[in-house]
Amino acid sequence: MSVMKFGGTSVADAAAIGRLTTIVGRRLESCRGTAPPPVVVVSALAGVTDSLVDAARLAEEGDVDGAVASLQQLLNRHLTVTSAVTSGQAQATLVAHVRDEFTAGFGLVRALTVLREVSARSLDAVIAMGEIASSRIVAGALAQAGIVADWVDSRTIVITDAEHTGAVPDMIATCTRARERLLPIRANGRVPVMAGFIGATPQGVTTTLGRGGSDYSAAIVGACLDVDEIQIWTDVDGMLTADPRIVPEPRLVPRLAFAEASELAYFGAKVLHPSTILPAVSKNIPVRILNSRRPDSRGTLITADADSAAGDLVAIACKRDVTVIDITSTRMLMAHGFLRRLFEVFERFKTAVDVVTTSEVSVSVTVDDPRRLDAIVDNLRHFADVSCERNMAIVCAVGENLRGDARLFARAVSALGGIPLRLVSQAASRRNITFVLRDADVPQAMKRLHLEFFEARVEAFQDPESALRRC
Ligand code: ASP
Ligand code: MG
Repeated sequence: MSVMKFGGTSVADAAAIGRLTTIVGRRLESCRGTAPPPVVVVSALAGVTDSLVDAARLAEEGDVDGAVASLQQLLNRHLTVTSAVTSGQAQATLVAHVRDEFTAGFGLVRALTVLREVSARSLDAVIAMGEIASSRIVAGALAQAGIVADWVDSRTIVITDAEHTGAVPDMIATCTRARERLLPIRANGRVPVMAGFIGATPQGVTTTLGRGGSDYSAAIVGACLDVDEIQIWTDVDGMLTADPRIVPEPRLVPRLAFAEASELAYFGAKVLHPSTILPAVSKNIPVRILNSRRPDSRGTLITADADSAAGDLVAIACKRDVTVIDITSTRMLMAHGFLRRLFEVFERFKTAVDVVTTSEVSVSVTVDDPRRLDAIVDNLRHFADVSCERNMAIVCAVGENLRGDARLFARAVSALGGIPLRLVSQAASRRNITFVLRDADVPQAMKRLHLEFFEARVEAFQDPESALRRC
């Protein structure tokens, strides 16, 4: 059993939806008789949610023409796709559904223009249209291709609190509904198709789960149905061992632990936000990232536990252009309360600190948002000597194996071969080592680490079976 989630780029237009249809068809074909059909969860067509947010903003500004025009453009785009992926009576029905959804949308946007106010609750009603329309179209396209599919309204399944634009599901209510609604469809050999990103309060008011929330929907439904795998179909092959803009030939990370994915997420080295797949991972359901343009590539598998045979490290990542602040005070010697005072300053100026290292008389921190730096430094100077160094960077090596094998640390440092290291830190999780160095040294440092840990490596993890064939 699986959940197949298709992101915005995988449903962007008729060609993308054609690829989706082929992927779902192949999956059904190879699993016929051995596994029930997958549940398909979809995002809005690429860029649609952003456009809907813009339309809502125009409404808030009272620009009725602008808001209506941008909605009209979206309607046209959806109708174009609809007529490309369906024909005949099925097309007429689908066009009617899409038009109905937008008719409600026009009414809503006009009302908001009158009020010139867009609450989070109203915004949810507007942006939910994207996923409702895309899921209708995908269900229609599958049916057109001869795949029996049933559109299911996610608002009757994903029951959330009323925290609009960032609603949290009530898992007990949601799982009850998911089983009630989805299992009979699958038992009949049909493919349930549902919108990601959206849900409803127990009273039936539309909510959304936060931007990028379709992955979250897939994880929620997968956890409720206890599926064997959640597939996240996107437009990249998976997670890479390094940023290809810095390291010329990064490798695909075949497999990583959820905790490793979380460490990397901070560096933007992510294809999904790890917290969104937590419901699945906490139930030990593997999540696989796959490329809908290359459906037979094996992708990246994220599991609750690491596969320690998979390699020494899983990836390296960096964050460019950070500032190091050194705070030194002899008063710190054996004093308590010093760190509290220090961090209160960052708190007051709402500036996040990324790396922290300490010695007995000094603390060094990095910040990547320099906007309030001057004020922070002024305030710190009340009780310490402070100096700042700009144009620094954080390079981070991640891998569960760092916990058990101290030699990896030694190899990383020697691979850097004398590149000056400003700070070094290994936090409690011990699944990462963080180096702070000059930004100018980043390309060199990343390349050397990549060479040491990835380029010589013989693939330990072999999984030649396409995700489409494994049932
Ligand atoms: N369409 C929504 C967004 O763009 C949700 C998603 O794509 O996951 O944020
Ligand atoms: Mg999206």
